[in-house]
Parts: sequence; structure tokens; C-alpha cells
Amino acid sequence: MVWLLRHCKKCDRYTLKTDACPKCGGSVKIPHPAKFSLDDRYRKYRIKMRRMAREKEEKTLSA
Ligand SMILES: [Zn+2]
Repeated sequence: MVWLLRHCKKCDRYTLKTDACPKCGGSVKIPHPAKFSLDDRYRKYRIKMRRMAREKEEKTLSA
């Protein structure tokens, strides 16, 4: 997922512009650090793996 919104550090505003804040001309940055989305992706993967492992376990137990 690509974050479209940028956050201005100067006036604390969100903008769709990627180069500079349209309000004050201050520098903008992506509000969510890339690390967050990576962690989230790993978390989802972990949950999926856990679910698969549990389903496998249940199948083994019921067999
Ligand atoms: Zn600004």
C-alpha cells in the first residue's frame, strides 16, 4: 500500500502534495514510517501461519 497523504511538519497539516506543503511551503513527509507497514505485514503473516498451524493440528486431532 502506498501512502498518498503527506504530513507537514511545520503547520501540522495533511496534504496530497508530495514536494511541499501548499499552505506554508514547509517540507512534507510520509506520516507513517515504512517500518510500521513492514511490521504489520509480518504480523498478518504470523497470524496466517498460526491459523494454518492450528487448522493442521485440528485435522490431526480429529483424524
Ligand atoms: Zn505546512
